[in-house]
Amino acid sequence: MQKAPTGLNIAIVGGGLSGLCFASILAKNRHIVNHSVTIYEKGNPNSYQGTSLDLDKNSQNVLKQAGIFHKYNAISRPGSDYFKLFSSSGDMLSVFFVPKVLKWLIPSSPETNRELMRDAFLENLRYENVDIFFDTAVENAEQTENGSMRLYGDDQKVLGEFDLVVDSSGFRSNLRRLRIEDDGKYYTGITMIHGSIEDPERVFDEKMLDMLGEGTVSFLGARAQSLSLQRYGAGIEDHRTSLYFSCLWADAHMDDAIGLSKDRRNTSGFYCDKESLDLVKNWIIEKMGNHWNPYYHQSIHAIDQVCIRPLNQHPAPTFINDHMNLICIGDSLHTVPPYTGSGGELALGDALDLAKLLIKDGNELKMPHIRELEKKMLKRAASVAKQGDYTKKWFTKNEHSDAVMTRTELTGGYRIAIFLLWLLAKIYNLEVIIARWFNRNK
Ligand SMILES: Cc1cc2nc3c(=O)[nH]c(=O)nc-3n(C[C@H](O)[C@H](O)[C@H](O)COP(=O)(O)OP(=O)(O)OC[C@H]3O[C@@H](n4cnc5c(N)ncnc54)[C@H](O)[C@@H]3O)c2cc1C
Repeated sequence: MQKAPTGLNIAIVGGGLSGLCFASILAKNRHIVNHSVTIYEKGNPNSYQGTSLDLDKNSQNVLKQAGIFHKYNAISRPGSDYFKLFSSSGDMLSVFFVPKVLKWLIPSSPETNRELMRDAFLENLRYENVDIFFDTAVENAEQTENGSMRLYGDDQKVLGEFDLVVDSSGFRSNLRRLRIEDDGKYYTGITMIHGSIEDPERVFDEKMLDMLGEGTVSFLGARAQSLSLQRYGAGIEDHRTSLYFSCLWADAHMDDAIGLSKDRRNTSGFYCDKESLDLVKNWIIEKMGNHWNPYYHQSIHAIDQVCIRPLNQHPAPTFINDHMNLICIGDSLHTVPPYTGSGGELALGDALDLAKLLIKDGNELKMPHIRELEKKMLKRAASVAKQGDYTKKWFTKNEHSDAVMTRTELTGGYRIAIFLLWLLAKIYNLEVIIARWFNRNK
């Protein structure tokens, strides 16, 4: 395909979900505006990506624009949008799934395997000849006298000068502080112990396998504890499953409380050695105490590697340095906790919107447009964060109580409210699709 003359020189810091997606959309539109793109990623092409993501219809549409949607089935787990909820004593509370007859109305959102999604993006970018520098952490940036942005790597090494820097380096971004003044209060008060089980088929009994099924099962415990198991292998024969044990914890340092030695973590933050695994397993079982049916311990004993994730959320930001040709997107701009289930969707939405804006604005960099878009991204994230606050309130309402949520409780208002909220969210997506279609055809 014929390419347009070279446009802006853009650096992307962080080759995660939003960075790779943004680069892919720009690359696919080079025939309209040929922006030159360079990606700096601190990990290597095989770095651990986390487990899976369930992506709504909007995000699936973003993957279409990025040119990887044709691989969606191959990178997602069939039937994984089946979600079951149990109490910690073993009562089934609810089941959520989209019946076949309603699939035309409510799109399904199976779990998408992150590793395979990253590979699909990378293959795309290789094909498009986009420069990606792995094992290259960006440490700092500054604006030069002529207005361009200079990026620095390790030891103050200059990596290059760019018209625009897009910071997509996630929650621990080094560049966010150049754009946003934070008060440093991030921790939500919930810590998630994130384990991974290689082959539940080998270690679980039949009843437990049945509870797990092919999708996600969550168990709600007393004292705001919860346990979830989720398949993340893409093909049905790939049994890999995540385990999440979440509980309230006063500070973001549960590793220390468990007695873990942080230098035993691998580069992805996981503990894999037997001694650390035993410490974590015993700690969870002790915390579950007699509020949980000991039957569930089999899932804890099955953990093969584990990571401690204090859940964070960015507060509303105060922007500084408006003049800098720097924009943060995704988690670097607005981290929301995983229990919103939407951080990745927001990151993909940011990637699409920024790419579309830069394509529309052509060879000229119009920072006021980018600042307007930044506000839109934040507004979208604020609404997700608000929903997350409700979810947190709901999950933690038993904070001081030994009582477990009961089926009767959920059968009443909660069950109906959850179902309606879920249905509304799905239908809202449909509305967005119709609005987009309508705008396109105006
Ligand atoms: C356990 C868990 C489950 C989740 N489940 C869901 C879900 O079901 N649905 C959903 O929508 N969201 C989910 N999320 C949230 C989602 O994963 C994030 O919101 C999303 O990955 C953010 O994308 P991002 O591109 O902003 O950042 P990331 O995906 O974190 O990518 C950042 C990249 O930047 C790189 N990097 C970091 N620092 C530097 C540096 N200094 N220089 C260069 N590179 C750097 C990192 O190596 C990484 O590759 C979940 C999160 C967690 C923790």
